Amino acid sequence: MYDLIIIGAGPGGVAAGIYAARKKIKVALIAESFGGQSLVSADVQNWIGTKSVSGYDFGKMLEEHLKAYKDDIEIIEGERVNGVEKLDSGFKVKTNAGKALETKAVLVLSGSRRRKLGVPGEKELDGRGLAYCSICDAPLFGGKDVAVIGGGNAGLEAVLDLDPYAKKIYLLEYSDSLKGDPVTQEKIKKNSKVEVWTNIKTTEIFGDKFVEGIKYEDLKTGDKKELKLGGVFVEIGAIPNTEFVKDLVATNKYGEIVVDHKTQRASVEGIWAAGDASDVLYKQNNISAGDAIKAVLNIYDYLSKL
Ligand SMILES: Cc1cc2nc3c(=O)[nH]c(=O)nc-3n(C[C@H](O)[C@H](O)[C@H](O)COP(=O)(O)OP(=O)(O)OC[C@H]3O[C@@H](n4cnc5c(N)ncnc54)[C@H](O)[C@@H]3O)c2cc1C
Repeated sequence: MYDLIIIGAGPGGVAAGIYAARKKIKVALIAESFGGQSLVSADVQNWIGTKSVSGYDFGKMLEEHLKAYKDDIEIIEGERVNGVEKLDSGFKVKTNAGKALETKAVLVLSGSRRRKLGVPGEKELDGRGLAYCSICDAPLFGGKDVAVIGGGNAGLEAVLDLDPYAKKIYLLEYSDSLKGDPVTQEKIKKNSKVEVWTNIKTTEIFGDKFVEGIKYEDLKTGDKKELKLGGVFVEIGAIPNTEFVKDLVATNKYGEIVVDHKTQRASVEGIWAAGDASDVLYKQNNISAGDAIKAVLNIYDYLSKL
């Protein structure tokens, strides 16, 4: 039986893996792939201690750091966890390759995936002027006309993130009104750089090598038009990768695992979660790593008291 199984190898999973390996507990890490969501980012500029690194190199850095501890942690790569079952004592973690591993504790760091628009051009232009994280990528859009798709809090915050950089910002909402925080809405509506358009359905993102614009339908008039742009931010939410534990631990309405933010414990004893899979308010690489480490330290206390 393992002491701990860590699920995920984004910044959270790797940070947890390194800390757990250094504690000399019997630990395994299972991950579909290394690096996490920033892999597709053109330039990560806020990983503390590193001024600038491509998402790809960021993933490689994480992988190399964890694998330096390969004698102290079992790394099961390329497999997906598809179930966690509670046993009389501990848990059984199952993978899509048919493994069933028993463990005293489970740390879920499986992150999330971005909700996509599902329109033509989205896949091809991902990372080429089409972005999903404004805190991360806003500085790359200096002097450009940019659209933010989604008028909830994430969309409003994306507008604020882009404000110091973009020349013009179109905030495009599908329904007939913005949904996010009213105070932020007011602030945005007063900003002469921002145009708020409601009842807008984006139907295509186009561009040769880089985003050149979008096609959209005005749902009120039925008009179909084009808007020339230098960038598009899709801010219509994220889907946490928590399906495999959703029947075991408490999740919020978004599917994020509810944790005690002092210890990262989930609602069931023996399960911890952190990073984008949890109900942490701010989703960032450094935050996932920090909270994952917090979880491992708490798990170590828990194991030593068993
Ligand atoms: C395009 C983009 C750019 C970004 N840029 C930045 C940035 O510049 N700076 C910043 O701070 N933040 C950035 N973010 C946010 C940041 O990427 C996330 O907050 C961070 O990746 C969350 O880390 P995590 O470890 O919690 O999860 P993730 O990074 O999502 O990692 C999840 C891990 O779990 C694995 N996994 C998922 N499901 C399973 C399963 N069922 N079984 C096994 N393994 C599984 C995945 O393969 C992956 O290894 C960006 C986000 C996006 C989408």
